[in-house]
Amino acid sequence: MPESYEIAVFEGDGIGPEVMAPTLEMLEMLSTASADYRLTFTTLPAGAGHYARTGSALPEASVEAARAADAILLSAMGHPEIRYPDGTEIVPQIDLRLALDLFAGVRPVRIAPGSPTPLVLPADKSVDFVLVRESTEGLFHSRGTGEVTEDDARETLRITRQTTERLVRFAVRLARHRKEQGIGSGQVTCIDKANVFKAFAFFRSIFDKEMALAPELIASHAYVDAAALWMVQKPWMFDVMVTENMFGDILSDLGAGLMGGLGMAPSADIGLEHAVFQPCHGSAPDIAGIGIANPFAMILSAAMMLDWIGAERKVPAMQSDAARLQAAVDAVVGERRQLTSDLGGTASTTEAANAVADHLRSET
Ligand code: ATP
Repeated sequence: MPESYEIAVFEGDGIGPEVMAPTLEMLEMLSTASADYRLTFTTLPAGAGHYARTGSALPEASVEAARAADAILLSAMGHPEIRYPDGTEIVPQIDLRLALDLFAGVRPVRIAPGSPTPLVLPADKSVDFVLVRESTEGLFHSRGTGEVTEDDARETLRITRQTTERLVRFAVRLARHRKEQGIGSGQVTCIDKANVFKAFAFFRSIFDKEMALAPELIASHAYVDAAALWMVQKPWMFDVMVTENMFGDILSDLGAGLMGGLGMAPSADIGLEHAVFQPCHGSAPDIAGIGIANPFAMILSAAMMLDWIGAERKVPAMQSDAARLQAAVDAVVGERRQLTSDLGGTASTTEAANAVADHLRSET
């Protein structure tokens, strides 16, 4: 009997359940066909809708079940009209990152052939880099505790040695892996604002120290404003970028824009023991309930999950299924058929997801 892996599923709010359902069907199809692994799924309650019904956005039992699972798949949570009494939005995904200590936010930016990018790329250039965003501190450190008076508002940024060290080590491992696979050049770029803020000079000094231990890689630096410019003007120069939480939050949406929008951008939040995989987009209440959401970011996030479990548990079949899933999305996008409206097509969520599933089936 093949080894079975338990996936904790948060289908969330808005378009969350719409993009999650076909993704789970595809994972089920892959795992049922595999002789090497099985997946089981447990759907857990959380989110803005759950808060409105019960007064709890992320029940402790859901966190514990997620902690016990082999990986966590999350679609999107939150709703602009459902808020805590202090007016802030319900973002259990951030609470989950903190609860499970998921310090490395992995945001791949890959422009596959035929992708609806707004960039005009030179024929000899391709874009495939990964932004590693610190996800537990930085400017998000003071979330919910900022001080606001009539005339003055303060939020505090926090950078710690311990988190920065393990973040840079994560980026180093990723850059090595990409270089070994022939995807990356082995360059890690520190994105900061070390010319203005002491906290970022501290971040950079830790980056430099860690990179000195990896002489086979290339260490480089960019100020965040210049990095934003270069992501548009010459994005092929990047391989692995590592940065603070807020800078990463902003740059990852810029990255999503480069590859055709939020509907195409997958992500992972990874710690030493746990990992959450979710699309970069939110619950998109403006298009929820009408079946037109792009499911590709969710499907690509599921592919990242398969790859991560496969690497952690040494199951090469899961890693090759991850590659197949990504290639199937690339093929559907490249052929420009069955695309949802955000990519200029007219397909429904189900039609777009079915095209990916059909592509997978046609290979076997
Ligand atoms: P959050 O703060 O929760 O990340 P957000 O404010 O960034 O959310 P989203 O919910 O991601 O907002 O939506 C931003 C825009 O992108 C909306 O117009 C939405 O319709 C669109 N969008 C997001 N995800 C998708 C998707 N999967 N398919 C099509 N359009 C999407």
